[in-house]
Amino acid sequence: MGLRRAGAPAVMTGLPSSSTAPRGLHVITWGCQMNVYDSARMSDVLRPLGYQPVDTPDAADMIILNTCHIRDRAAEKVFSELGRLRKIKEARETTGQPTIIAVAGCVAQAEGQEILARAPYVDIVLGPQTYHRLPEMVARAARAGGAVIETDFPAEQKFDFLPDTAAPQTPGNLTAFLTIQEGCDKFCSFCVVPYTRGAEVSRSVTSVLAEARRMVESGVQEISLLGQNVNAYHGTGPDGDVWDLARLAYALAAIPGLNRIRYATSHPRDMDDALIAAHRDLPELMPYLHLPVQSGSDKILRAMNRGHTADDYREIVRKLHAARPDLALSSDFIVGHPGETDEDFEATMQLVRDVTFAQAYSFKYSQRPGTPAAGAPLQVPEDVKDARLQALQALLREQQDAFNQSLVGQTVPVLFTSEGRKPGQISGRSPWLQPVHVTGSPDLIGREVPVRITERLTNSLNGILEEEKVYA
Ligand code: SAM
Ligand code: SF4
Repeated sequence: MGLRRAGAPAVMTGLPSSSTAPRGLHVITWGCQMNVYDSARMSDVLRPLGYQPVDTPDAADMIILNTCHIRDRAAEKVFSELGRLRKIKEARETTGQPTIIAVAGCVAQAEGQEILARAPYVDIVLGPQTYHRLPEMVARAARAGGAVIETDFPAEQKFDFLPDTAAPQTPGNLTAFLTIQEGCDKFCSFCVVPYTRGAEVSRSVTSVLAEARRMVESGVQEISLLGQNVNAYHGTGPDGDVWDLARLAYALAAIPGLNRIRYATSHPRDMDDALIAAHRDLPELMPYLHLPVQSGSDKILRAMNRGHTADDYREIVRKLHAARPDLALSSDFIVGHPGETDEDFEATMQLVRDVTFAQAYSFKYSQRPGTPAAGAPLQVPEDVKDARLQALQALLREQQDAFNQSLVGQTVPVLFTSEGRKPGQISGRSPWLQPVHVTGSPDLIGREVPVRITERLTNSLNGILEEEKVYA
């Protein structure tokens, strides 16, 4: 624990001091929604030092690259981006403007020393669990003499040290992310998360509810709860009990003005009856659930160490639909995990046909160094993975189009969040997260309004306002 200095010296001197004079901050975010949340919190902790967001890296006194390590060539992408940032840093230096470059996130966690060795102009390397210490790291970097690296898993929980801002996202936002849980103890064969994000940790109920209330006070109406295994949430409640996600959802739904609650990403093993009942009881819980299954073959699910079978998944979906008939599903799939045969792949296709998904993400298996599957025998050739991915994505696309088409002619509540791209247009989200566009007054932004869907576009829907009946 604690700061330590890396051997590689920073090439520049005279970094911005740690005073609070105004200065620009540019954060580049790759990867999942949790990284989006983390980037916002990094901006929060740097605001008291005078850092304000700027749109371009060449206007920034500090640039943070918040990275993702989940799939292929993550590190190479980082080094190529760093090459670009180095040029910006050097150009700014010639005009007497020093720039701090920080690399954050899971690549920083996994490859911190390598980053400092190959890119010695990087000033700070920090893992996902240490960004509450950024001000201290900036001060260290400003004192010069070497880069600062902090990739340990600290004993303290970063959430206890983050500032109580009204809401971490841009003020005026109607929707916000709220991380309630981090890390993972499940160790799926293919996945780096348990190594980069560490063990599963849940925030306390009090701190989650306080942050949610602050968000609602600042105008947020829809909160997406985030966690690598969000439904494994087990936070300490004000009563001293351990609360699960279901209990937390009931408490969140009782906050006046919080009209929509979502959560991601869930694991099938943690989809218990209490949470399913919450979907039955709480209209605030949106009828759209991202529930990754990865494969439809029991043999591959076992090799992946997923802890459930394909039929377990089918049964969870059956219970969810019984509790909330309009609930639609999204999922993640991996094709070409080591050992996957044509027959295993066909079992995945069958599961997709049986369950039907409103939307899904599908990936070719990518060998992640240090994970059990990376060294497993029977790696699947790239061309086989390509063919399987194409077939799966064609089926998933068909299902997504069919789901969106099924909404045409229906009236659905849309939370309007912005003006549309076309003049006179406003846009929002349906309960199933599709963007919906209508012709309407910007006065409707911030309201949930019934809309009759008239047309399916490739990834969004057009509709017309149903007058008078306003939900919120
Ligand atoms: N915790 C979630 C779960 O259990 O499903 C997933 C979180 S992971 C950050 C997001 C997705 O990335 C996974 O669901 C998986 O489909 C995909 N993924 C993770 N490791 C991968 C790998 N080595 N190759 C391809 N896809 C991968
Ligand atoms: Fe990765 Fe599996 Fe944990 Fe999800 S449950 S984060 S896929 S190890």
